[in-house]
Amino acid sequence: MVYYALLVGAELDGLTNLQPSGGCDDPSFPYYLKLKCENCGEVTAKSTYVTLSEQVDLPKGHGTAHLVQKCKLCGRDGTIVMIPGQGTPLTIEQSQKEEKTCLMVFDCRGYEPVEFSFGAGWKAESMNFLSMMRRENARLS
Ligand SMILES: [Zn+2]
Repeated sequence: MVYYALLVGAELDGLTNLQPSGGCDDPSFPYYLKLKCENCGEVTAKSTYVTLSEQVDLPKGHGTAHLVQKCKLCGRDGTIVMIPGQGTPLTIEQSQKEEKTCLMVFDCRGYEPVEFSFGAGWKAESMNFLSMMRRENARLS
């Protein structure tokens, strides 16, 4: 079992707390990933997405996963289970330090995530209110 943390960095200009529109654990937010088969090295041509609200039964054994997909080349099954509760939004402080934040953790078996696409459905907070507050304070002091 291998855990992959999705680390995201971005240049935020006047914005902070970049995250999926319903938060990192937004049940309907699709995380788009390109996957590489650990068996034969084939990379999926298109991104597949996983969302917390969509679960499928594992082909063998018990339990569920957020993605069960057969490799097109070698036919081996790979699974992804999302681990919620680990993500934090990207702040302007992290952005300025060129740091990244972890948004989601994936437990991948048989696949290695090699690419993440942003897609739609993100939100960030405007910093304008904060900078206005700062100006107000400056005027008072
Ligand atoms: Zn394969």
